[in-house]
Amino acid sequence: MPNNLFEIKHVSKVFSDGTIAIDDVSLILEKNKVYVIIGPSGSGKSTLLRTLNLMEKPTQGQILKSGENITDPHFKIEKHREHVGMVFQNFNLFPHMTVLDNINSAQIHVLKRPLEEATQNSLGLLEQVGLLEKKQHYPNQLSGGQKQRIAIARALSMHPEVMLFDEPTSALDPEMIGEVLTVMKKLAESGMTMIVVTHEMGFAKAFADEIIVMDKGKVIEQGTPEAIFNNPKEIRTATFLKSVL
Ligand code: ADP
Ligand code: MG
Repeated sequence: MPNNLFEIKHVSKVFSDGTIAIDDVSLILEKNKVYVIIGPSGSGKSTLLRTLNLMEKPTQGQILKSGENITDPHFKIEKHREHVGMVFQNFNLFPHMTVLDNINSAQIHVLKRPLEEATQNSLGLLEQVGLLEKKQHYPNQLSGGQKQRIAIARALSMHPEVMLFDEPTSALDPEMIGEVLTVMKKLAESGMTMIVVTHEMGFAKAFADEIIVMDKGKVIEQGTPEAIFNNPKEIRTATFLKSVL
């Protein structure tokens, strides 16, 4: 299907210590949609997200991106990563670089954009996340919420086809969660394909096209926010929602 971005086919990930992190997951993720993955700690959400940019290689199954098998041993991982933006819980900014250099870096070193062009693009992104005035600051001079907005700008600098978010607000003080969610909401409204692991159920309700519920390495249920929140089929879904709402 031309509208499928990822097709995850019977994917499992067993770590070398025997932990089954993902257990026979099959999913279709379409372009221009927002997916929110929820589930208890240890259910495999991060591992599943990381297989999509091949930070983790599945031990079984296949993942197709736009029809191409990215889990084929001959597949060029580096090219793929350029098109998949990822935002982590702990920001992962380069501490010795200014905000502007953080956002310029991959554009210059990976995409080989000239400095001027990279800088123009970065300044536009800084404006988009509301932090233009911080361009010459270093990460340790920023609040957690600001760091995360910079991390989002940095991921966007590569013009990704899809953005992956792994609990982007979990490390933030409550008063900073809103500013990061605001940036994510704008991104969702712009049509960006987003796959978001989060416990922010307000965001999930308002912005998810589909919610994917995981437990013990499996997708136990998926559906619209209305279906998942108002009429969960699985007791485990209802129990999990009770614990976070
Ligand atoms: P979640 O993000 O839902 O909390 P994870 O994907 O991080 O879950 O983890 C799923 C399971 O895989 C957990 O049991 C976790 O301890 C285990 N796990 C994650 N990474 C590794 C690893 N590198 N080596 C061994 N086990 C791991
Ligand atoms: Mg996780």
